[in-house]
Amino acid sequence: MSDSKYKFETEAVRTQSERTQFSEHSTPLYVTSSFVFDDAEDMRASFAEEKPKNLYSRFSNPNTTEFVEKICKMEGAEAGYAFATGMAAVYNTLAALLESGDHIVSASSVFGSTHSLFKKYLPKWNIETTYFKIDEPESIEGCIQPNTKIIYAETPTNPAVDIIDLDLLGEIAKKHNLLLVIDNCFATPYIQNPIKHGADIVVHSATKLIDGQGRVLGGVAVGRADLIREIYLFARNTGPAMSPFNAWVLSKSLETLSVRVEKHCENALKVAQFLEAHPNVASVKYPFLPSHPQYNIAKKQMRLGGNIVAFEIKGGIDAGRNFLNKIQMCSLSANLGDTRTIVTHPASTTHSKLSVEERLAVSITDGLVRTSIGLEHVDDIISDLNQALS
Ligand SMILES: *Cc1c(COP(=O)(O)O)cnc(C)c1O
Repeated sequence: MSDSKYKFETEAVRTQSERTQFSEHSTPLYVTSSFVFDDAEDMRASFAEEKPKNLYSRFSNPNTTEFVEKICKMEGAEAGYAFATGMAAVYNTLAALLESGDHIVSASSVFGSTHSLFKKYLPKWNIETTYFKIDEPESIEGCIQPNTKIIYAETPTNPAVDIIDLDLLGEIAKKHNLLLVIDNCFATPYIQNPIKHGADIVVHSATKLIDGQGRVLGGVAVGRADLIREIYLFARNTGPAMSPFNAWVLSKSLETLSVRVEKHCENALKVAQFLEAHPNVASVKYPFLPSHPQYNIAKKQMRLGGNIVAFEIKGGIDAGRNFLNKIQMCSLSANLGDTRTIVTHPASTTHSKLSVEERLAVSITDGLVRTSIGLEHVDDIISDLNQALS
């Protein structure tokens, strides 16, 4: 699947399911739960997987297949499977590839529900996770145990936009014969391709920049064909499949991924530069600002800086809350990667249940504001942020 005839943008537009007898130009929506067979032999051979036929939409559907094929080409992956949500992609990947008694080594700054999976649910099946700090990669090898099977990380991280060196993770995974699983949600396949750095599986929440318009949920796991086969078999029996409608929407979204992400990143860099010069802002974290602690790694592995800008407002929790209250145009919302700029204050919202120490362990300070920069005119975004900061 990963053999690309064309460049990224062209594959995004031109990868399409086969035309039907109606000669449609744009891929139709295949709203069907099952598929029919010509006769007993056709049905036998299809179920025996002797021919690549759709059987039932929990297994595959032309719309999900088209979506997965595009992501495979974009990520340089051999195979993939599409899920109803990003979390379904993360959970099914781990559940399919791990046995009871296995161990995970992960960066501590991971998406909130992934953290719950590691610390609350996987231990039910005797799978434990050891965390390393994302800015202390030299500590990773010390976390590896004889039963370690997977190294897991996100880069850039949510919400603090930290970066980890993918080449380094790839080398460590190879040296210790471990699987490397990377959540590439914040970067998108346009900005960064973890498989080129040694990742075995890449997962995405397609809900974010892949949809890019805040409409549907979706997830996908792509990578080595033998591992995807295990994930597929687990998923086809447990039922987290992406709906054909969401796959249809998301495949259309991929057609414009490159132009959207270019503009998101152009706007985000300008916002980051504006914030860095603002007197009420203590510090700004954006991968393509030279002040970012991992700027050199970001420049090495990312094509652009992404659309998430994190900054530290002067005055702590109260200043963060006041800032949100003063916002006029931007949205206060839990999503990210939307056309609409979104601002959140993790310490008083998503991470308010954690203690100050727990928050600091994942780089969430009291004054941290996370912005997901959208596609409005950058002058309007900056002017809203500016009036709310004053
Ligand atoms: C949103 C997100 C997820 C979960 O995706 P859903 O589609 O909401 O289930 C996983 N990882 C990261 C980095 C995310 O931002």
